[in-house]
Amino acid sequence: MKTKSIQQILPPPAPHMVGDGFRVHNFFPSGYDMHIARMSPFFLLDYNSKVDFPGTDTPRGVGVHPHRGFETVTIAYQGKVAHHDSAGNSGVIGEGDVQWMTAASGILHKEYHEKEYAKKGGLFQMVQLWVNLPAKHKMSTPKYQGITNEQMGKYNLPDKSGVVEVIAGELNGIKGPAFTFTPIEMYNARLKKGAKLILNLPENFNTGILVVEGKVKVNTTEDAPVDHFILFKNDGETIELEALEDCILLVLSGEPINEPIAPYGPFLMNTKEELMQAYEDFNSGKFGVLED
Ligand code: MN
Repeated sequence: MKTKSIQQILPPPAPHMVGDGFRVHNFFPSGYDMHIARMSPFFLLDYNSKVDFPGTDTPRGVGVHPHRGFETVTIAYQGKVAHHDSAGNSGVIGEGDVQWMTAASGILHKEYHEKEYAKKGGLFQMVQLWVNLPAKHKMSTPKYQGITNEQMGKYNLPDKSGVVEVIAGELNGIKGPAFTFTPIEMYNARLKKGAKLILNLPENFNTGILVVEGKVKVNTTEDAPVDHFILFKNDGETIELEALEDCILLVLSGEPINEPIAPYGPFLMNTKEELMQAYEDFNSGKFGVLED
């Protein structure tokens, strides 16, 4: 098998606030001069690197807003977030958990720090991904998957040197619980210093790794420090990782969706006409109702 070689190791772009609760580095689509479909099916990666929020009685977050045409996936590393949407789904996720929300035909939702966490304050670290949907699923019924850490597949490395939590896809026979519309591999690799992990991912899958904690040597040659994103070329299957410190690595890999992309604000469609329709439907109340 051929090595999937490194295209670039990207430092975190300057952060911006999303609402008042998320201070994020946008690696794509706007952080770097990358093609809009470079990481397809992943359209957007917002990374809230560690922030220490002071306690407050008014939870920080983002108020009611719409989405259509894709999925939002939130992965919690530190802190807790609460979610409510107009499809009637809600949930709280904390350290190690994931919420996978399929906006598809359209929902309103709000995302806030969970009340008790907000009151006490403390470290906060999260990832939000926007996962695109193919045309035939863009208008599917909205759906919500709350995935606790317990429910994830666990691949244990030899000699207790680490564990890989499989959120979606399959690693060495261990499957992840997330339902996905297109083939996606998504793991949190928690590696102890010195641990080695080999990944085999299809050559055509767009692949990147976010270093959430620690420092990792990739393909025996390059070191990637914390908060950096490693973008891989589509030139092979094998990635070799060696933890230079205790690490948490978010592995993202997926089959590209080869369709036109029309993004605007909170909508992600195939054509301009569909975007206009999305605004029309949103403005005429077709996305339902959600109290602020
Ligand atoms: Mn949202």
